[in-house]
Amino acid sequence: MRSGAWTVRALSPVLLPRWFCDSGARPAHLSLQRSVRFVSTESPSTALPTHARLVICGGGIVGTSVAYHLAKLGWTEIVLLEQGRLGAGTTRFCAGIVSVAKPLSIESKMANYSNSLYERLEEETGIKTGFVRTGSLCLAQNQDRLLSLKRLGSRLKILGVSCNIIKPKDVAGLHPLVNIHDLVGALHLPGDSVVSPPDVNHALAVSAAGYGVQIYEHTSVNHIVVRKGHVTAVETDRGSIECEYFVNCAGQWAYELGQSSEVKVSVPLHGCEHFYLLTKPLSEPLHPESPVVIDMDGRIYARAWQGGILSGGFEKNPKPIFTEGRNQLEIQNMQEDWDHFEPMLSALLRRMPSLEACEIQQLVNCPESFTPDMRCLMGETPGIYGYFVLAGMNSSGLSFAGGAGKYLAEWITYGYPSASVWPLDIKRFGNLQSSRTFLRHRVMEVMPLLYELKVPRWDFQTGRQLRTSPLHDRLDTQGARWMEKHGFERAKYFVPPGKDLLALDQSKTFYKPDWFDIVGAEVKCCKEAVCVIDMSSFTKFELTSAGDQALLLLQRLCANDLDVPVGHIVHTGMLNERGGYENDCSVVRLSKNSFFIISPTDQQVRCWSWIKKHMPNDPQLHLEDVSWKYTALNLIGPRAMDVLSELSYVSMSPEHFPSLFCKEMSVGYANGIRVMSMTHTGEPGFMLYIPIEVSYIGFDVGFDLILTCAYHHCNHIPDMTQKRISCP
Ligand SMILES: Cc1cc2nc3c(=O)[nH]c(=O)nc-3n(C[C@H](O)[C@H](O)[C@H](O)COP(=O)(O)OP(=O)(O)OC[C@H]3O[C@@H](n4cnc5c(N)ncnc54)[C@H](O)[C@@H]3O)c2cc1C
Repeated sequence: MRSGAWTVRALSPVLLPRWFCDSGARPAHLSLQRSVRFVSTESPSTALPTHARLVICGGGIVGTSVAYHLAKLGWTEIVLLEQGRLGAGTTRFCAGIVSVAKPLSIESKMANYSNSLYERLEEETGIKTGFVRTGSLCLAQNQDRLLSLKRLGSRLKILGVSCNIIKPKDVAGLHPLVNIHDLVGALHLPGDSVVSPPDVNHALAVSAAGYGVQIYEHTSVNHIVVRKGHVTAVETDRGSIECEYFVNCAGQWAYELGQSSEVKVSVPLHGCEHFYLLTKPLSEPLHPESPVVIDMDGRIYARAWQGGILSGGFEKNPKPIFTEGRNQLEIQNMQEDWDHFEPMLSALLRRMPSLEACEIQQLVNCPESFTPDMRCLMGETPGIYGYFVLAGMNSSGLSFAGGAGKYLAEWITYGYPSASVWPLDIKRFGNLQSSRTFLRHRVMEVMPLLYELKVPRWDFQTGRQLRTSPLHDRLDTQGARWMEKHGFERAKYFVPPGKDLLALDQSKTFYKPDWFDIVGAEVKCCKEAVCVIDMSSFTKFELTSAGDQALLLLQRLCANDLDVPVGHIVHTGMLNERGGYENDCSVVRLSKNSFFIISPTDQQVRCWSWIKKHMPNDPQLHLEDVSWKYTALNLIGPRAMDVLSELSYVSMSPEHFPSLFCKEMSVGYANGIRVMSMTHTGEPGFMLYIPIEVSYIGFDVGFDLILTCAYHHCNHIPDMTQKRISCP
């Protein structure tokens, strides 16, 4: 490959929207555009409106999609603010691939919708969007990859997406440049497409403006004004706009914008540099309809571009950027880094050897934002009503923008979207996952993971131990292997003495892993004897009131009857107006007017904000997050009753301690432990909620006793006295 004009850093005009190339003047030949009310602040006299119903920050593909869909749902008084020119953020540098092959079904669904939206946008607006239905080929270099593609294919077929597993020789038939010698198969998605992202961005903006959305360029949002927990205004560098709703679509600037609010909003994302190569047209130009090639084992993708190739990838050693949050307008001037791109270039040449002879035009570098779990951030932020976010696209912003914009618009309009976007809800995170160091380290792992094979039970390795149980170190010395949930370390199994620890860490397979028998033995112990599971990660709230306000609130929120005698436990769902689950919990009536609510670990932020949202503004009603105040132990198995009786000198038989009952008692040396005759696992047993300040001492003694007792009670498997099974 010869390098030609690649030292020129500015992106080729061909990728830029047409309006960038004609001195800011927009084409006038389209009827829809005549009604557009773009306001460019190059004329400084143009005043901003003082009032709007909803303000969107960010004129990239995401912000314009939200504006477009809200406008289509009949919203009026929408203002979209963009600090530079529309589409001049990350969208401008996007490679233009719309791929439906995504890890989550909801993501595939969003991409599928985007694909059809972008196809019809040209007809709807008269603006050329560069839409070409190329199809795509996801290549497999090994059987595990092929298996994962087969799984993906089955999932996509359920969504109605056409796709087929094909043989290497079929790949060669579909793409003239692909070297198939090391392939074992591929997934062919004939419906995938490529577009010109800035043109799609422009078409969405033009259409939204045609419906009355007011768009202001060169206008920076400084911060959001919040009164009594509600958005009331947006402060910009050109004045303030009163509004009821605000949508943060600021792309990689979304984190900083969240931090600059009067009430800080956590938008956990972080930028990494992202590269792709453009070649000059090949001697035999590549047909524009050639399928996009996605070679995840080689960490690269490639599409036809101007008769040549556009190829980028997700390297093993990404370069995080802008951790210190300085003005990121610098994205226009990012440096090429050929040394860094070299592994991807080599992978490209292995996949398409004939490119050796072609001439390179340019290496594009633009940062993209990544999130701690590789999923985008969507929805209303916890604690501020009317503040919505759609950001953190993990390099799939073009593919997601159409669908995500539609679902967010529905969410804002109706209170919920028409599809379940639960895994994308920003409320899966809290402040916990928003430290700059955590984000910097985590995204360095996330970016390569996008193309890595994800076998069952894989875990993130970075940003660990954000939260730990007081028993963490003790369990660690017992051979615990850890997984993480909502920042909390949870033991997933215990390595028996004498096992090869290294081999266990490397047991990454779709088939029977080498921890399988270990977990099997632990399950057997739970079934036949007694085990202890540390469930301290669970979310725990206390709801108290002076009168019956706490009961009335729970009666309204929960599906089950909470007006039960003191000491009783109720398993219940918190349902929304449509009968859907908002939270799955166990509620203990501690006294007439106080309740202990136990929820899944990763529901901490979501459940809190759901209760708060429905709580009357009554100073006598109080909700407290007491998750950190209790160590939670699950004593499980048919001998749990015997062990607890031995430790407490109290009979734990059903006659003395009926099922779904709670009382405070002493266990071992520790006093004041909330003992509950229920488990979260389906087996007979007890939950012990131990105040944190006694748990270490209590546990030190009590746990040893439990272990000793358990040992005696299940000495046919003496090394298996404890386990954790997966919890919600
Ligand atoms: C090299 C590269 C290749 C990619 N290729 C693909 C691909 O092929 N397919 C795909 O699906 N995705 C791809 N992506 C990802 C995709 O481009 C992005 O996810 C998407 O463009 C993000 O859109 P956005 O609207 O969220 O962000 P942006 O386009 O960055 O828009 C955010 C806007 O907000 C504005 N803004 C920020 N702060 C403020 C403020 N305070 N006041 C006013 N305005 C503000 C910014 O100026 C910016 O214009 C690629 C990304 C990169 C970097």
